[in-house]
Amino acid sequence: MEPKEKIRQLTQTLEEANYRYYVLDDPQMEDYEYDRLLRQLEELEAQYPELASPLSPTRRVGGQALSQFEKVVHPVPLESLQDLFSREELEDFDTRIRETVTQAAWSVEPKVDGLSVALEYVNGDFVRGATRGDGRVGEDVTENLKTIRSIPMHLEGAPARLIVRGEVFMPKKVFAALNAAREEAGQSLFANPRNAAAGSLRQLDPSIAARRKLDILIFNLQLAEGRTFETHTQVLEYLESLHFRVIPHTLCRDFSQVWQSVLDIDGGRYDLPFDIDGAVIKLDDLAQRQVLGSTAKFPRWAAAYKYPPEIKSTVVEDIIIQVGRTGVLTPKAVVRPVHLAGTTVTNATLHNQDFIAQKDIRIGDTVRIRKAGEIIPEILEVETDKRPAGTVAYRLPDRCPICGAAVVRDEDGAFLRCTGAECPAQLSRNIAHFVSRDAMDIDGLGSAIVDGLIEKGYIKSPADIYYLTLEELKGLWKNGSKAAHKLLSAIEASKTQDLGRLIYALGIRQVGAKAGKTLASAFGSMEALMSADLAALTEVPDVGPVTAQNILDWFAQPQSQHLIRRLQEAGVNFQSKEEKLDDRFAGMTFVLTGALSLFTREEATERIERCGGKAAGSVSKKTTYVVAGENAGSKLKKANELGIPVLSEEEFLKMLE
Ligand code: AMP
Repeated sequence: MEPKEKIRQLTQTLEEANYRYYVLDDPQMEDYEYDRLLRQLEELEAQYPELASPLSPTRRVGGQALSQFEKVVHPVPLESLQDLFSREELEDFDTRIRETVTQAAWSVEPKVDGLSVALEYVNGDFVRGATRGDGRVGEDVTENLKTIRSIPMHLEGAPARLIVRGEVFMPKKVFAALNAAREEAGQSLFANPRNAAAGSLRQLDPSIAARRKLDILIFNLQLAEGRTFETHTQVLEYLESLHFRVIPHTLCRDFSQVWQSVLDIDGGRYDLPFDIDGAVIKLDDLAQRQVLGSTAKFPRWAAAYKYPPEIKSTVVEDIIIQVGRTGVLTPKAVVRPVHLAGTTVTNATLHNQDFIAQKDIRIGDTVRIRKAGEIIPEILEVETDKRPAGTVAYRLPDRCPICGAAVVRDEDGAFLRCTGAECPAQLSRNIAHFVSRDAMDIDGLGSAIVDGLIEKGYIKSPADIYYLTLEELKGLWKNGSKAAHKLLSAIEASKTQDLGRLIYALGIRQVGAKAGKTLASAFGSMEALMSADLAALTEVPDVGPVTAQNILDWFAQPQSQHLIRRLQEAGVNFQSKEEKLDDRFAGMTFVLTGALSLFTREEATERIERCGGKAAGSVSKKTTYVVAGENAGSKLKKANELGIPVLSEEEFLKMLE
């Protein structure tokens, strides 16, 4: 088959699978099969780039990152809605409309709490998607919208130009998982799914947006060239027939039906996979809408009824501290169980010390609690008049509740972090780092194996890797012996890794692979590094005062000293093989450019560093020399402009002699 035809077929099959899975919620294709076909398409597109469509299913995982969003003028403005807060206000609204239009029928729909976008199709192809912005001018987020699988990339039988409007949202489950991961990593949390959706849709890198698993519900037709409709219900049916994922809607003939629908939506809201903040009521008859028209801000024929957020009082029975895999301490309030927004709530996150102090939350306090974005329990405030006598302000411990090591405040945030090099809460992550490619590079210690070893109690510190026995390892695989032997020899081989890797493997904050190397060549041995003071550490290129202090603090910890001792006893190499040659390049910065023929860039960089110099990626006033090979381009030009001396490869080698 011609590649063009094959691409067309694959595209169609994959988009059909997307439609079944994401719009109809009725998957017909195994994930495995989907991935296989997607890979086939990727390969074909790589082979024939000229045949790759910008609407290809391969774009659903995120295309190229942008440097900014373009502005888009909406041909039909994206209006706002007037808000109503009680049954009376809603009934008045209905009565008022009926004074102008008799026999009003209403479409009642959930008000999805996300952000509004317009999707534009030309000849059936998705050409542009934009945020609402101020209603008239929004931002072009086309590439991010392509990652939403329920948005069709092509419509069959659509008019020459069609624009629809919908609400992009983050499903509750995705939101909860995203925040849980952020909390564990010590990152700030999204307040609610709407903020999370907005933040995700405004990512310049579509692959990040893709990972956020956004979804959409379409609720309006903005423009359809050459097509006319009589009612909103007809419009929604038409959009459904074009394979859009359309908002659930109920047609109501009188106010009592409207009110019943509003109550039904409220009653079912906690079972919906997305967050809503109200119900929208809209006149169904499009001609009637014309008669009523719009104010400057919103249509007169529609309104949003806002549900009051559910807030309850309960008692903080205890405050516990959880330690995440990265060592972040998270305080949690254990509360007297209370039924709230669809579930029984037994605890609420307290985020960090600042949050607790600001609200002065104490054990024994009665607090008002609600669910952020109707999902995550959150303490709003303390009812201080109900505070029992004898309570004290709560302070997070200054020791890790798991391992007893000191805790420190993150450099750039409000989070406390455990400093224990052997803390059980961080063990699996620390080991993953210790054995990783740029660190001790031990093959065969994947996360499942490590977790197994930890569970069995064979490993309590990264150093324990070097004490594993054949007996202990054999049981981890079905046909254990061979794999165990292989792993043991990989572990044994890693003992001779250079000191730089070992320093990096220790996981000292802000000491990356490069700093590990520089420290190793500056001090020559682990012992010398351990006895270095702040001044000596700060003298090392690329080591600033904060990193230097981190290094000092790390070696001062009893757990760190224990770890080092055990590594030494196991015979792990503590000497740098690449001792510093001399200081002839001290204080100098080199930039390498062009095609080098006498040595590779890596070799040159290493030589520069071993002579105490620095290799940088771009030319600036601080550059001492530029080493230029064949066909040097912009960097050479810049060097000439700034009057920076340029060396040939031969001249550079001479300096090294
Ligand atoms: P507000 O932002 O409070 O003015 O409310 C209006 C917003 O509600 C619109 O901009 C839409 O983004 C959003 N919305 C969510 N669901 C619907 C719906 N079913 N019909 C109309 N608007 C909706």
